[in-house]
Amino acid sequence: MRQFKSIPAEIRDNLAPTLAQRINQLRTLRNMTVKDVAKACRFTTQRVEDLESGLELWLSATDRQLLANALAIEPQVLLEVEAKSTTNLVKESAAYNQQKARAIKEDILEGEKNIECPNCGGILKCSIQDGLDIEGRPIIFAKAFCLKCPWVLKEI
Ligand SMILES: [Zn+2]
Repeated sequence: MRQFKSIPAEIRDNLAPTLAQRINQLRTLRNMTVKDVAKACRFTTQRVEDLESGLELWLSATDRQLLANALAIEPQVLLEVEAKSTTNLVKESAAYNQQKARAIKEDILEGEKNIECPNCGGILKCSIQDGLDIEGRPIIFAKAFCLKCPWVLKEI
């Protein structure tokens, strides 16, 4: 495990309230430029700028880890101010996602409208499509994608 440089107490108690501000604050604290951070986590500088201007409100687990490493902080420091901050580690697990996807699929097949995106809470665009299974038998598929974020219902 990588050792994190501890954040000075006066900053730890006064961390900025949004992801954008907090990334900027921690980058400044570490005396890094946008370019330094981008290089350290292999993001484009544009991506780091987008994050600092609030165009991206949350990170994937992988990106969060990369950015946290670059800023020498615990990923939790970023996670707690991401837009989906009501989520917890359980909600990021594969089992949870699969369970959620299964429930959404059932809702769609039951004709439910206005299903919420599990990622951002936006409304999902849902449809039912006819298809064939591997053995050529007709089956119906539930399709859904989010209108606001990249979430897509994966086949399960
Ligand atoms: Zn969404």
